[in-house]
Amino acid sequence: MNDCLFCRIVAKEIPATVVYEDDAILAFKDITPQAPVHLLLIPKAHCSGLCDLPESLVPVVGRLHQVAAKLAEEAGVAERGWRLLTNCGPDSGQSVFHLHFHLLGGKPLGGRLCQ
Ligand code: 5GP
Ligand code: ZN
Repeated sequence: MNDCLFCRIVAKEIPATVVYEDDAILAFKDITPQAPVHLLLIPKAHCSGLCDLPESLVPVVGRLHQVAAKLAEEAGVAERGWRLLTNCGPDSGQSVFHLHFHLLGGKPLGGRLCQ
């Protein structure tokens, strides 16, 4: 999708600090990190969010979780702990409508998942 920011990052039309790439998944650093480690993991194929997940992307999202664990290890946060989350829809605060998972770590993340 031409007007989708993350599709444009996949197409390398917009630069990003890529930390992992395969045929179906891209991972890159968040431009406004909220923790010392803040990565975004996305399926390369466009899908607006988890509520819009097509069957074809179910295995990709499964593999993406394995990739997240590998990246957490590489980023040195596996032992202390990390969080993987996705926002879906207006109440979640989702601002980019291409499915993405935030990988956060490198500091105590707190027990509360919402205020
Ligand atoms: P959301 O609020 O949709 O869950 O998360 C969107 C994330 O994308 C935010 O954490 C935001 O900082 C990040 N982001 C927005 N624009 C860009 C960009 O151009 N490049 C990168 N690397 N991250 C972006
Ligand atoms: Zn997209």
